[in-house]
Amino acid sequence: MASVIRIDNLRKIYGKGDNAMTAIDGLSLEVQSGQIYGFLGSNGAGKTTTIKILLSLIHATSGQAYLFDTPIHEAHDILQTKVGALVEEATFYPFMTGYDNLRVLAQSSGIKDIEVRKTLSLVGLENYAKRKTKTYSTGMKQRLGVASALLTNPDLIILDEPTSGLDPKGIQDMRIMFQHLAHNEGKTIFLSSHLLHEIEQTCDHVAIIHKGKLVQEGTVESLVSEQSRFHIKATPIDKAFALLAESFSAQLVDTKIEINASADDIPKIIQTLIENEIALYEVIPKRRTLEDLFLDVTHD
Ligand code: ATP
Repeated sequence: MASVIRIDNLRKIYGKGDNAMTAIDGLSLEVQSGQIYGFLGSNGAGKTTTIKILLSLIHATSGQAYLFDTPIHEAHDILQTKVGALVEEATFYPFMTGYDNLRVLAQSSGIKDIEVRKTLSLVGLENYAKRKTKTYSTGMKQRLGVASALLTNPDLIILDEPTSGLDPKGIQDMRIMFQHLAHNEGKTIFLSSHLLHEIEQTCDHVAIIHKGKLVQEGTVESLVSEQSRFHIKATPIDKAFALLAESFSAQLVDTKIEINASADDIPKIIQTLIENEIALYEVIPKRRTLEDLFLDVTHD
């Protein structure tokens, strides 16, 4: 698979002297063609800064970033022809319709009206295309922002918080659209978000950054299933808990024991409990969610 984004030991310091603030601190990651890559981090972690560096809106203090194997300072043409992006809020002319706003953008890139119409229906705005954007809801503006990023039919789509203002149906529509673009059309999608459940369902890869550093990276599948939790219902619970706590990280949750263990440990756990005359009612696997992982790796 081809490398679409590569970031090598990137560092960004805002300000100077006493006011210096390290926003990105030695960040490295790679995004391959066709991936839907989630870029996660708490407020102030450095997501927007990284995205702005990728789009050449600001310069890194040191390190290097590449788009399609080209260093970003040489990637001006690539940014214009192969990359579509939405960073923070898109701005539109409020007295023009959604359709006319996109047409203005399209004309400056030599894109035909038919493509404008197609893009509007791709983001679910076909019924609102003739309305002035000043009458748009937050979600409609956000859909139009995503449409502006897709207008040139780019190979790489970079979106900063694309679904934050959308209702559940809007979020689902975007998910289906992103998955269609990546899996059927071979597009690469790099998106930042705070909606962890959404990222877990939409993305195939994620990076979690904290204070400008990479703290976790991998496929969603490997990250959420790396460690398993089980809920065990048994009596007497105190005796069962004491036995399990000898070998596993265990805690009491309501009337159950929660342990961190792998599926391979379960037969042995059951055997130990039964040999110790403990009545076992339930052993239920609890999948670790991306939210659990995120909270684990980003707490100080
Ligand atoms: P959020 O989720 O809140 O959007 P983020 O992960 O996108 O956060 P950034 O906007 O990249 O974070 O900010 C990273 C750090 O850099 C923050 O501490 C922020 O205050 C600081 N920062 C961002 N832009 C500037 C700037 N122009 N001048 C000084 N500091 C800045």
